[in-house]
This record gives sequence, C-alpha cells and structure tokens, in this order.
Amino acid sequence: MTSVNDLVVARPAETCDTDLAEGPWVFDTVPGYGPGSSELDVIPEPVIRPGQLPPAYQRMDEAELHARIAAAKETLGERLVILGHFYQRDEVVRYADFVGDSFQLANAALTRPDAETIVFCGVHFMAETADILAREEQRVILPNLAAGCSMADMADEASVEACWEQLVARFGTEPDADGRVPVIPVTYMNSSAALKAFCGRNGGIVCTSSNARTVLEWAFERGQRVLFFPDQHLGRNTAKAMGVPLEEMPMWNPRKELGGNSPEQLDDARVILWHGFCSVHKRFTTAQIDAAREEHPGVRVIVHPECPMPVVDAADETGSTDYIRRAVAEAAPGSVLAIGTEINLVNRLAAEHPDKTVFCLDPVICPCSTMYRIHPGYLAWVLDGLVEGEVRNEITVDEHVARDARVALERMLAALPQPLTGARA
Ligand code: SF4
Repeated sequence: MTSVNDLVVARPAETCDTDLAEGPWVFDTVPGYGPGSSELDVIPEPVIRPGQLPPAYQRMDEAELHARIAAAKETLGERLVILGHFYQRDEVVRYADFVGDSFQLANAALTRPDAETIVFCGVHFMAETADILAREEQRVILPNLAAGCSMADMADEASVEACWEQLVARFGTEPDADGRVPVIPVTYMNSSAALKAFCGRNGGIVCTSSNARTVLEWAFERGQRVLFFPDQHLGRNTAKAMGVPLEEMPMWNPRKELGGNSPEQLDDARVILWHGFCSVHKRFTTAQIDAAREEHPGVRVIVHPECPMPVVDAADETGSTDYIRRAVAEAAPGSVLAIGTEINLVNRLAAEHPDKTVFCLDPVICPCSTMYRIHPGYLAWVLDGLVEGEVRNEITVDEHVARDARVALERMLAALPQPLTGARA
C-alpha cells in the first residue's frame, strides 16, 4: 500500500512540507506542531510537550521495526490491543487490531476485556477517551506524547471556564418557563478530558461528527442556546443544516471580552461557536471543488463537516469519516469520488477500491501533522517496553475528571447517536 512517505519521495513538489520525508523525531522538539497542515499553528499552553524517541529506535530500518513490533505482539498476545485511527499512516495501521474513528476505537477496546494494555495510535484526546471508558485494570498508551490535536488545544479549560463565567453572569442559571436553562455546553469529541468533564458538570454533552445533529437537538430541548466547542465549523455546519440562521451563531473569541460580541448578540444567539478549527480540513476550498468538477464531470464530492461552511455547501454530501468510508464502499464500480478529508484515509480508500476513482480534493499532500507523529519507531519502543515490563507513555485521566466526563459521554449515548448521518447538501 502506498504510504505518505512514498508519495513524498515520488512527488516532493506536491507536499506541504518536504520535512515530511523525515521521521517525526526530527521535529518533535521544535516549537509548533511541525510539518503538515498545522505547521503554522502555535502550540497553546498547557499542552503535552514533545518527547524524543531513543536514538537507537530512530536508526532502525523498516525491517527491524517490523520484526520488533511483530515479536512483541506475539509475546503479548491477548493482553495487548492496538487501535489505529483512520488518519494514521499505513505503516502503523497495518499493526492495528481495530481501525476506526476515535469513538469507535474507544468502544472497540471494550470488546477485548482480556487486554491489559490499549496502545492507541491516534492523538492525545483519543487516548484520554479510551482511558475514561476502559476498565479500571486496563492501561492506555499513546506511543508519542507529542501527538496532540491542534484543534483540541484551541479550547483549554481555563478559557472555557472564563467564557462560562461571563455567560452565567449575563444569563444566570435559572430555566425559563419551558424548563430550558440559559446555556448548554456541547463539546466535540476532539477535546480534552477536562472539557468533557466541564460539560458533565454543567448539564452538557459530548458529540461526534456522526451524531452532532442529534446532540444539538438534545441540547435545544434543554437549553435556550448552546455553547459549542472547540470546532466552529462542525457547529456552524450542523446548526445551519438544522435551520439556525448564521446571525444567531456568533463566534466566541477567548481573547476578547464577551468573546468579542455585544450583549445583544449573545442574547439572540442559538449557538455560540468557539473560535477553533481543524488545520487539516481548513485547507479545503470551493476552488478545489470547482477544479474537481471541471476535470471529472459527474464527480461525487464528499467532505467532512470540519470543513468551512462554503466548502460543505458546495459539496454533494457531508459526513463523518465513517460516513465517507461507507459511501465509498457502497458506491457503484466506476464511480468517481472527490473526498475532503485527511489524506491517509483518502489514499487508503483509493487503494481498497481500485474499481473506483477516489482522490483527495486537495492536490497538495498534507497529512495531519500530529497523527503523523505516531511512527513505527515509537510503536516498537512502547511495545518493547511492555515486553520488558516497563510502561511507557501511559495516559491517565484523574478519576474525578473521568467521572464527570463519563456523565457527558453517557448523555451522548443516551441521545441515540445515528450510525450514518451524512446528508445530501
Ligand atoms: S485531523 Fe484535525 S481534528 Fe483530527 S487530529 Fe488532526 S488536527 Fe486534530
């Protein structure tokens, strides 16, 4: 299967950063998130800081890493489960027992009760969610602690608490005559455990890109307005599809008083959108859709709801990674599909469906630079540690945080998430 590195070597001019040809340890200690689509993002504080892989593992070639990982998997057997996110590079996904989106993977781990250790090949918030949902005896490992998520980091607990204080000062907490409280907080799964716990404590809920509409319906039944974080695009696209006018969706900029809004704008708000975004999905444009349609008349354009609103509006369909995966699988042979999501998933879908033409809307190869930090070298290092009895890079969520976060996650499950929620735009 083609890897990002193969593509980089074959077509260096078409990548967003030539450093992508190097191992992630080359940039693990430099400021910022490193090469990739979020290269220019500033890492907010406090976030997980990069850690370096021991030099011996940096020098190992692919064959040695493969031999080590395979041997460790054999030794650890049922005591180990490896989870691989859709956006992971193929060199890592090949070792995964389950491949899926973040919530599918957290649940998949529960189907392996004998597994003492869950190695999550994804990013930090995913490992936290797995730890929240895992049995007490299970431990969760993130192979590279530098694998954060730039979007999740855009909403830190202190900023959200400060926002909440201002909203409570403005609206109070008393329900109206219909029993609806002034504000319901809704956090996207792509957020820290602390923010999931914040939602649990304050009558809020978690959503995924698959069930955001169902969750917003739940929230509107219970609240006059919603505070949605961290992804403005998922919030805006979902609420717009539900008929909420744009003027009732002000943006909250955490650096400004009242988020940069007038009191009246907040009074009229149905959804207050946090000023966050995914650097990967922000790259997609309507010009790319126009170009795809010109080059491939009749092409079916499917984009992720983390894309900006004009892109979602111009696409034929929008849906979660799981929706996109199923849509490609179910398309008729000969179909042409242009996809607006992370390149590793798109390339894998193209390879799995050679009877269809599947390509990424963005002609520039730009993987999620934090997912990219899970390299087979890190996987070999943590697995070797387990074989030797040493637990490396464990992710542990404090029990009082986990307890409140579980409340918000359980509300989401009770809201009956839809299994396939993409829709014709
Ligand atoms: S693709 Fe975007 S939202 Fe997903 S982990 Fe990467 S930066 Fe975060």
